[in-house]
Amino acid sequence: MKSKTEVSEIGGAGKSTKAVWGGEQITHPYNATQTPIVVSAAYGYDDIDVWYDVALGKSPGFIYSRMSNPTVATLEAKICELENAESAVAFSSGMAAISGVLHTFLASGGRVVSTRDSYGGTNKIFEEFLPRMGVEVTLCDTLDHEAIEREIARGCDVLYLETPTNPTLKVLDIKRLVAAAKRAGALVVADNTFATPLNQNPLALGVDVVVHSATKFLSGHGDVLGGLVCGAETLMEKVRHYREINGASLDPFSAYLIIRGMKTLALRLRQQQQSARALAEYLCTEPLVESVNYPGLPSHPGHAVACAQMQGFGAIVSFVVIGGMETVKVLLPRLQYAHCAGNLGAVETIYGPARTTSHVENTLEERLALGISEGLVRVSVGIEETEDLLADLKQAFDFTRAQLRNDSQSNSKNTQTERRTEVEI
Ligand SMILES: *Cc1c(COP(=O)(O)O)cnc(C)c1O
Repeated sequence: MKSKTEVSEIGGAGKSTKAVWGGEQITHPYNATQTPIVVSAAYGYDDIDVWYDVALGKSPGFIYSRMSNPTVATLEAKICELENAESAVAFSSGMAAISGVLHTFLASGGRVVSTRDSYGGTNKIFEEFLPRMGVEVTLCDTLDHEAIEREIARGCDVLYLETPTNPTLKVLDIKRLVAAAKRAGALVVADNTFATPLNQNPLALGVDVVVHSATKFLSGHGDVLGGLVCGAETLMEKVRHYREINGASLDPFSAYLIIRGMKTLALRLRQQQQSARALAEYLCTEPLVESVNYPGLPSHPGHAVACAQMQGFGAIVSFVVIGGMETVKVLLPRLQYAHCAGNLGAVETIYGPARTTSHVENTLEERLALGISEGLVRVSVGIEETEDLLADLKQAFDFTRAQLRNDSQSNSKNTQTERRTEVEI
């Protein structure tokens, strides 16, 4: 029998195995098989010298749960296994993690280079909060790698990447941009939420710091918020210090839910990706659809780069419907197996337009400037049967086409000049 008294090395295991056992090959109190939720705010010591050593970090142990907590530490060990990272720090949400990283590595007079297509909240940090602190922010056209390289070469402390992007699924060439950042001495941060550690490991491509919204695929059930940051211990030490003092620590109940969710990540993603591809292929044939974004489609402009740097294409598909918001408003309520909500990465399929999901923080003008049309719908594909999801989407489109045809007929009867859609349907 193998000894489980110490966290054993499982570096050679496959990712599904790591998702199950990572951080959990330890003997728990009472020989419990599951990681306990340790709710204690503080940890007591009768021996003041031992206490002091733990407080100084000279001996292992816990002092106060804002700084570290056993349940949270297990989650941090698990993401380290999956991202092949030396160290990790958990936060109370994905945005807390992103904000924590940017504030750790940027200060007044510093400069960050990123792209226009980052997650809406991240974009707000770039446009609203960092400039207020005296940080220069340059956001480049997401697909213009030459422009990004040029801006990096002008001097840059942090290069911040997100790929594939939300919700348009643009793919950035990580290795190429990391090379430019290394030449400029910049730290590279990558948001790996959409890909998940199963499909993409940015640290292996030269990225320094990886961030995740654990709210999404990692936890996988849409019932918890959390964020994770990982990388070398020399960097994580600084991020941990920021979190300790600024206080956006993850609570142990949430940490437990994320641990539990992560164990099934590989199984969930396998099913989700199979359906995502099927939905993307169907959407390419649907007359009411103007364009489809899925990196797994050979027609996707980032397909070759995605093949080179990802092990799978993920479970998010987005598409633009002809007729804009008018069409969206008919189509989405007609779906049977879908939450219409501002979330993604859960076991249920979730549909939502950019207006009320990824870019709810932006005005119409800002969305249009980002190339996000009002007819753009994001689908986070769940674990339902592929056939059921396909049939559901097809019936919703059939209904929508019929509905819009009726509307345009009655419009022309009433001799209204305003056309509701520009399509022949
Ligand atoms: C949801 C999301 C975030 C923010 O995470 P929260 O847990 O909601 O704070 C950041 N990046 C991406 C790509 C996301 O999808």
